[in-house]
Amino acid sequence: MEPPDQNGCCDSCGRTNAVLYKLSLGHDFFDRPYDRLSAYGNMSPRWYCEECSREKDFQRDVRAIREEFAKLRAGQTSCLDDRTTFVRARERIAAIDQTVKKGRSPHVILVPREVAHLLMELDTWAEDRGLGNGAG
Ligand SMILES: [Zn+2]
Repeated sequence: MEPPDQNGCCDSCGRTNAVLYKLSLGHDFFDRPYDRLSAYGNMSPRWYCEECSREKDFQRDVRAIREEFAKLRAGQTSCLDDRTTFVRARERIAAIDQTVKKGRSPHVILVPREVAHLLMELDTWAEDRGLGNGAG
């Protein structure tokens, strides 16, 4: 057994004097089991400080929504085919966008610009199709 060398240090930002959480992401935005990390995590446990675990949570949702949105645009079956889910996903990205914009800097996990870009694309898509702010 090798001694754990991650103790006391956030795997993301490298902060040392912080409470660390072993990250378990559970389910993604579409309520699917999120296994990407756990499979990898078994090999290499990850510990994150509070801020990084929150960002990690955001990143999981941003990734899931971005992937489903790509499928939607490609005309493939997507979780975002459902209008209600699409609106909910857009709201989630908008909320994340607001949070990362006013959050700490530098962001080590999520790039605020990427979130803003995804939100812009979702907005354009919604506008073109009359989805959106509950109007009509
Ligand atoms: Zn951290």
